[in-house]
Amino acid sequence: MDNKVVLITGASRGIGAATAKEFAKNNYSVVINYNSSYQEAENLKKELETNYKVKVLTIKCDVSKEEEVKNMVEKTVNELGNIDVLINNAGIAIDTLFEDKTVENFKRILDVNLIGTFLVSKYVGTIMVENQKGSIINVSSNAALDDYYPMSLDYDASKAGVISLTHNLASQFSPFVRVNVVAPGWVTTDMTKELSQEFIDEENKKIMLNRFAKPEEIAKVIYFLASDSASYINNEVIRIDGGFKC
Ligand code: NAP
Repeated sequence: MDNKVVLITGASRGIGAATAKEFAKNNYSVVINYNSSYQEAENLKKELETNYKVKVLTIKCDVSKEEEVKNMVEKTVNELGNIDVLINNAGIAIDTLFEDKTVENFKRILDVNLIGTFLVSKYVGTIMVENQKGSIINVSSNAALDDYYPMSLDYDASKAGVISLTHNLASQFSPFVRVNVVAPGWVTTDMTKELSQEFIDEENKKIMLNRFAKPEEIAKVIYFLASDSASYINNEVIRIDGGFKC
């Protein structure tokens, strides 16, 4: 039997790259979507092919651009035959003081984090419904729930949108496709590398486990949600924040 296929957006780095490894380890053919990190995506492809002997495609696509998304989905199906699992992980944050927030940056964040999740889900979800099976996991943030941090109010709003979108997609694609969303807290990736040690120490005090997550700790939950072990989990928001207290 052919391997199952997972398409992961924003898989060139961070949580997406860790998720690509987790699925490859479990014998999935993997599509690594990237936007600008060509070399990181190619290096990861080589690593997965060598270590896990699975098929890997790298596809450049800005998830906020409909034509590029359409082409990415078509290319995946043409080359790998199907899409069993979609992980909408691509995301950006542009943290600034409130007075420096701009409409341009706000719109770009919404375009990538929210519209991108909608677009990829639209094209992949339609195929999954035709096939009468599939699983979609969206990546939101605990910032959408209760970790208020005005430096990222635009990001937080986009991630709240991702949760709302998840509920509607679960309804739209039922009963064949399970759609769930994870809400990680702080994770050590490029997205958090500019944070000062002082800020990190303060945030760690609010986390019961007293530390940021490793990307692999998010990837394992995403894999679980996609797997048959989670066959009755649908339309759910799963926090992965080490026990965050505001
Ligand atoms: P990261 O290390 O900065 O990686 C972001 C990924 O998104 C990269 O692979 C990047 O690809 C991709 N990306 C950005 N814009 C894109 C676009 N327009 N089209 C396609 N791909 C694009 O971030 P991360 O921490 O792993 O974050 C992954 C997800 O987890 C994001 O949705 C983020 O909001 C969420 N999250 C992160 C944290 C955290 O503390 N790190 C907490 C909660 C939620 P290129 O480099 O190729 O452009």
